[in-house]
Amino acid sequence: MNAYLEKEIKFLQGVGPKRAELLEKEADIRTFGDLLYYFPYKHIDRTRFYTIREIVPSDTFMQFRGRLTSMRKEGVPYKERLSVRMTDHTGSIELVFFKGLKYLLAKLKVGGDYVVFGKPSEFNGAVNFVHPDVEPANLKVETIAAVLQAGYTTTERMKNSFITSRVIGKWMVTLWQGMTATIPESLPESLVGSLKLLPLHDSLFNIHFPQSSVLLQKAQQRLKFEELFWIQLRMLFLREERRTIIQGFDFKQVGSCFNRFYSEFLPFELTEAQKRVIREIRKDMGSGKQMNRLLQGDVGSGKTLAALMVILIAVDNEYQACMMAPTEILAHQHYHTICRMIEGLGLKVALLTGSTRKKERTLIREGLMSGDIHLLIGTHALIEENVQFGKLGLVVIDEQHRFGVAQRARLWKKNTLAPHILVMTATPIPRTLAMTVYGDLDVSKIDQLPPGRKPVKTLHFYDTRREEVFRFMKQQIAAGQQVYVVYPLISESEKMDYKNLEDGFEQIRSHFTEADGYTVIMVHGKMSAAEKDLAMRLFKEGKAQIMVATTVIEVGVDVPNATVMVIESAERFGLSQLHQLRGRVGRGGEQSFCILMTSYKLSLDARKRMETMTTTTDGFAIAEADLKLRGPGDIDGTQQSGIPFKLRIASLSTDEQLLLLARRTADDILSDDPALTQPEHQPLLETLQQQLHREINWSKIS
Ligand code: ADP
Ligand code: MG
Repeated sequence: MNAYLEKEIKFLQGVGPKRAELLEKEADIRTFGDLLYYFPYKHIDRTRFYTIREIVPSDTFMQFRGRLTSMRKEGVPYKERLSVRMTDHTGSIELVFFKGLKYLLAKLKVGGDYVVFGKPSEFNGAVNFVHPDVEPANLKVETIAAVLQAGYTTTERMKNSFITSRVIGKWMVTLWQGMTATIPESLPESLVGSLKLLPLHDSLFNIHFPQSSVLLQKAQQRLKFEELFWIQLRMLFLREERRTIIQGFDFKQVGSCFNRFYSEFLPFELTEAQKRVIREIRKDMGSGKQMNRLLQGDVGSGKTLAALMVILIAVDNEYQACMMAPTEILAHQHYHTICRMIEGLGLKVALLTGSTRKKERTLIREGLMSGDIHLLIGTHALIEENVQFGKLGLVVIDEQHRFGVAQRARLWKKNTLAPHILVMTATPIPRTLAMTVYGDLDVSKIDQLPPGRKPVKTLHFYDTRREEVFRFMKQQIAAGQQVYVVYPLISESEKMDYKNLEDGFEQIRSHFTEADGYTVIMVHGKMSAAEKDLAMRLFKEGKAQIMVATTVIEVGVDVPNATVMVIESAERFGLSQLHQLRGRVGRGGEQSFCILMTSYKLSLDARKRMETMTTTTDGFAIAEADLKLRGPGDIDGTQQSGIPFKLRIASLSTDEQLLLLARRTADDILSDDPALTQPEHQPLLETLQQQLHREINWSKIS
């Protein structure tokens, strides 16, 4: 059986080497087994046929049989379209195609009978189909009987090579027809029994060829559970291994750096939460095992300071540390803040970012190798291969959800012994996601804000009330406060967005003139590091009252005197982004405000987001609301969340219960048998080792 599933996909009848190459590139399908695990994203009822007169514009798919009565190319070259008219005994209807005309002209014949399948839409008062599936009516597709037909995702490039959902369905038939034995069960029999799971073989069959809707549902449950279970088993297994086996640097002492900083330089009393977290981390780093810890704390809870104190412990033990930030602005800010705070300690701190000059780089590299530099702060530049440390003992990663897990893994490899890792993140990460992405980490939480903070007041204004907002800004500035105005910049390349930003900047400058004593500055991603740094400094030192910016200031920026955050076109931001942005104010003792500007026309979803923001400041509640609103498509995206694997079937937003069950199950198994040595768990161990092996290769190539 395994030999069959490991066969290369090019050997499946109808595939061949060319399409195999494309399948691998576009869909990661290399073997028969990979195809088997290429799950449909939907199931469609294709048993019902409509008459043309019955067809109305609709969000669901409809199907009819008819005769092709005319076919014509229209429009000008490069903007051509194909108009096809289909007729049955009740009327006629138009099909429109914009792409693949050559192929369609060759395939379709006037006078032929076809089955048309698609979503009817409305155009100029008539119903039509745009890009429906069209198949000859007498087409005899060999298939396996099923109550619903599976629909498979195909990319643009797959479609261009005629690898459509139907073609994949056909290959699936071939694959199953060639199968001579039952696919062996992958989970322990006892588990399948106690959780009443559909056996693997039946699940895989029914997901592609549902024999009933009940069986389809059972198949989905089983496959989702299994997917989540392996992730959890792997996470918990790794955590166990790290806690018990992997050696780490032993930071035995707390020495003069830490103690002097604490008694002489610490600008304020630490919060109880900060103290507790530092204790937890200290204990971890002195255990002789490698620390891998997530430090969670809502925006403004003082993670940077906690991290700095941990860094001082590393230095006290004669190790170097590095701190990685997601943006250049943030790296600069950390650099300046930290240098100022530890000025009296005589430590050498260096800053390395993408725009560090070559000469400076060489110096830094030497300083790192010789051990002269105690702390290196920087951006992604830190993980470049040629940055080597003499004695790297601790890595702090700020606002980690922007770093992929693979990047984390590269830092691991900068030593023979892995350094301690502290990953910091603001809370807006839903529980299910945290469990999946950070499931192998130990967690510390700063669940308390520094004293004297007042919750930010959040207001929602329509664009028509801009004058009022300007008046309010003037009042706040007159009281000595500063203001951020943020514009959405969805992608660096979007010209429109830059135009909005610049227009906004000009508009604000015309209301807040230099003649009246205002200084307005602008910060965006296209500026050079030096320009950004200068602008940030002007703002930080209070020489500018208004900063007009893009989301480059989203994370980390810390100017306690700023009390107003105006967010333009707030409807274009996601909840977690809005929360991060709002976190830029409310960092001092003054009452702060966040003003969400939107147009009057809002989608239901956008309205909910504004409502959530104006009613809560709790990052955790916002994260959960975000997950619900954004739904699976977005949050499961590997890039966004840094999940190193793609979920094929389970969803972190809708399958929370299954995820919890999977975690509990994995936990039960491991607490009973941590190294999976019991005979019954042998297959689990084998699969896990295979998976880990694959993953390591994966992190090497990415
Ligand atoms: P975040 O957790 O969002 O990274 P920061 O580390 O930027 O938060 O801290 C937010 C602000 O709170 C900073 O201005 C910092 O100096 C200040 N801060 C940190 N800890 C304390 C404390 N214990 N008491 C008062 N202010 C603090
Ligand atoms: Mg921070």
